[in-house]
Amino acid sequence: MERTLSIIKPDGVKKNLIGEVIKRFQDQGITVAAIKMMQLTQKQAEGFYAVHKERPFFNSLTDFMTSGPIVVMVLEGEDVIARNRKLMGATNFKEADEGTIRRDFATDIEQNVVHGSDAPETAAFEIGYFFNSMEIVG
Ligand code: ATP
Ligand code: MG
Repeated sequence: MERTLSIIKPDGVKKNLIGEVIKRFQDQGITVAAIKMMQLTQKQAEGFYAVHKERPFFNSLTDFMTSGPIVVMVLEGEDVIARNRKLMGATNFKEADEGTIRRDFATDIEQNVVHGSDAPETAAFEIGYFFNSMEIVG
């Protein structure tokens, strides 16, 4: 069993996609092991995306991520890091495979509906960033 961090970003929440996104995970046998809704402060968004701080889109990305509520989840399942990335599709929705969340719902390379950890080390950091062990079931 593996765990990953998933975020429904502010655009996804605004488009009322919370149920749709969770349904796609659960239809694939992926389990929600923790979940909460929150609005990030600028500092919290900058800390989460610290690996991207030299990127030209960093300020825009943290502004976007603080622009409204998000839903943060721990997902659990076999090979869930890769399987979640597959369900999400490519960062740029124009390059995302048909039937992926980003292909179906994203409108912008930045406003791309969901986040998912990309490796076991980042998943561990990102889960710990948002949840303590008592908040995760199972
Ligand atoms: P995420 O980390 O959100 O799951 P990702 O791993 O597919 O997505 P990263 O390269 O880690 O993509 O970029 C993090 C986020 O930064 C992207 O999801 C997107 O919101 C934003 N982003 C990435 N590249 C660009 C870009 N060229 N212009 C604007 N925003 C971007
Ligand atoms: Mg990433």
